[in-house]
Amino acid sequence: MNIHEYQGKEVLKQYGVAVPQGKVAFTVDEAVAAAGELGTSVVVVKAQIHAGGRGKAGGVKIAKNLDEVRAYASEILGKVLVTHQTGPEGKEVKRLLIEQGCDIKKEYYVGVVVDRATGRVVMMGSEEGGTEIEEVAAHSPEKIFKEIVDPAIGLQPFQARRLAYNINIPTELVNKAAKFMTQLYTAFVEKDCSIAEINPLVVTGDGNVMALDAKLNFDSNALYRHKDIQALRDLEEEDDKEIEASKYDLSYIALDGNIGCMVNGAGLAMATMDIIKHYGGDPANFLDVGGGATKEKVTEAFKIILSDTKVKGIFVNIFGGIMRCDVIADGVVAAARELGLDRPLVVRLEGTNVDLGKKILNESGLNIVAADSMADGAQKIVALVQ
Ligand code: ADP
Ligand code: MG
Repeated sequence: MNIHEYQGKEVLKQYGVAVPQGKVAFTVDEAVAAAGELGTSVVVVKAQIHAGGRGKAGGVKIAKNLDEVRAYASEILGKVLVTHQTGPEGKEVKRLLIEQGCDIKKEYYVGVVVDRATGRVVMMGSEEGGTEIEEVAAHSPEKIFKEIVDPAIGLQPFQARRLAYNINIPTELVNKAAKFMTQLYTAFVEKDCSIAEINPLVVTGDGNVMALDAKLNFDSNALYRHKDIQALRDLEEEDDKEIEASKYDLSYIALDGNIGCMVNGAGLAMATMDIIKHYGGDPANFLDVGGGATKEKVTEAFKIILSDTKVKGIFVNIFGGIMRCDVIADGVVAAARELGLDRPLVVRLEGTNVDLGKKILNESGLNIVAADSMADGAQKIVALVQ
């Protein structure tokens, strides 16, 4: 789960991480009032959306007086920001962060991630802050330094200092930077983050080390033990279909293709997406209805796929183990009756109660193309949507 920058900064503050003072604003008047309260000569007006690259897209503006705050707030609120992370459709700005202007001497990058290769938490740093780290990784990978953390003892002070030296933090500020990194690491672990990215981390004119931006991402499977983080969820930033799916406890991720997939089991769902790709198609989603899904759950899952206007055809690929094929068939038929089935549907069923499942589909009067195997089904749906 993602949260906004201003929320991320609040979380980090609990761990002692230095951040500029700031306040969220939902209206232009609130923005001006917040700037007045900050009372600093320079105030930064920052768009709050769940995507980076706001600066380049005109979502971060430096105001020198309250009139400028008003002008920038009016300009940015309600604007659709298109950044390299939003996709071409962009994201509408509904909140602003009104923040103290910071006297930046130099910008750095620090990020904490879970590294699959080592199976450990890794802290990365670079002196190329402000820019996208992907660019640095592509063009000057030697400028990214990493510290692999042993989970039993956590990030060691010597590692934090080594990283600070490696990214060329001024010597007199290395200890401050190391403390910052330790606090960031503690926040990451205690809050079950999957990403904690500070870009830029800055060294200021008056010799401080601060987070000017904060991107925190949380492991959804751990949210049950962080009610405070759960409360920060902003549904308006999320895909409607994914929100709907989460209500029914379905594992659903929207993708860019046009073949809707309904599958049981994460492994089979991945394999289904692969085989669709293999035959030249593009999946519109990942969807695992799970093992013990009820007819209602399957119905909702099918409705979510049908409600996606990008979907030009649907491939149901079920291997009934715990899941019974007749339950899937019932769900598909119920959803198709309710919403109407106006697109090609290919179904491949195997396993528990397969005969009953096929019978239900055959007698439903729906226009369904049966497939004998996964490969056969993938080829058929790819051909039908083309
Ligand atoms: P994004 O990564 O989405 O572009 P950032 O929060 O990193 O947004 O802001 C972009 C740039 O704006 C930063 O690299 C920094 O140069 C500048 N900036 C952001 N916040 C402040 C601030 N409080 N004071 C001064 N400059 C800022
Ligand atoms: Mg940034």
